[in-house]
Amino acid sequence: TEETEEWLQQYVDDWVAFYRKHTNDGEVASYIPELQKANPDALGIVIKGNNGITIRSGDTEDPFTLQSISKAITFAVACMERGVSYMLQQVDVEPTGEAFNSIMHLEMKQVKKPLNPFNNAGAITVTSALPGDTSDDKLEPVLKLLEDMLGNRPELNADVFKSERDSSTRNRAIGYYLLEVGFLESDLDITLETYFKQCSIDVTIDDLARIGMILANDGMDPKNGEEIIPRQIARITKVLMLTCGMYDASGKFATYVGIPAKSGVSGGILAAVPPRVRDESMPFTDGCGIGVYGPALGEEGNSVAGIRLLRHIATQWDLSIF
Ligand code: GLN
Repeated sequence: TEETEEWLQQYVDDWVAFYRKHTNDGEVASYIPELQKANPDALGIVIKGNNGITIRSGDTEDPFTLQSISKAITFAVACMERGVSYMLQQVDVEPTGEAFNSIMHLEMKQVKKPLNPFNNAGAITVTSALPGDTSDDKLEPVLKLLEDMLGNRPELNADVFKSERDSSTRNRAIGYYLLEVGFLESDLDITLETYFKQCSIDVTIDDLARIGMILANDGMDPKNGEEIIPRQIARITKVLMLTCGMYDASGKFATYVGIPAKSGVSGGILAAVPPRVRDESMPFTDGCGIGVYGPALGEEGNSVAGIRLLRHIATQWDLSIF
């Protein structure tokens, strides 16, 4: 297997070098000014297999903030704290086909709740359902779950938090609308502060690969068999990642890559590849988690080189769940 690991590493190194050129086709997010400081040419990937093999390639050390990837974590935490059926009364599980910060569905009469927990309206609603009276109280179970998965407690990036809070007109507009129609369960300012904090949690692609591996395993840590996220909640989280995880490019991502994944405007992608049995000669048939970082974004706000790299790997290694 040492040999296998070596050639897998060689392939991934070649693919990262090739797709790094594609970062030129995207742009680093600028609507949160602090995010603009990211290196536009960066591209890195970590793949952690349930079989114990880890492949790391490219810019693996750059820390970045979770941004929208946090929506998958807070949704799982809210389900663990409040119950699945309760949370599914608060937010629907339907893709919108609209941009992540779209507000339009909230105004439609037939829509009785935010359409899904992964657009900003739904995510802010989920955050409002977290228990606690302050933003730090609300964030606590989120940091705790991350700590349980990663083995260490991640930190907030204070500069990104401030930048995000100070450039939050759209999220405030969404928040006021949610408040007006009665969807929020907590004070608006505390809810938004919590939301900006969860988006500002610093991680690396090693962290994302580890989270992806646990989700791929239906919430169980493959190392010791411990259940970190209840199976039903891990499954619904993956369903949402597949149908809504890549914003309004989710359908294309499911078509061309076929893996549950969640992106963020900082350029991170969290992907969970469940075990599959079609072809034992393929690598990672026991399932794996993948973390990708590439801050140059395409039109829909996903890492442009990151998506192409994932598409290539998924095709080569037959990773699609379909
Ligand atoms: N913090 C960002 C926002 O709410 C997260 C959005 C994203 O990553 N797409 O605007």
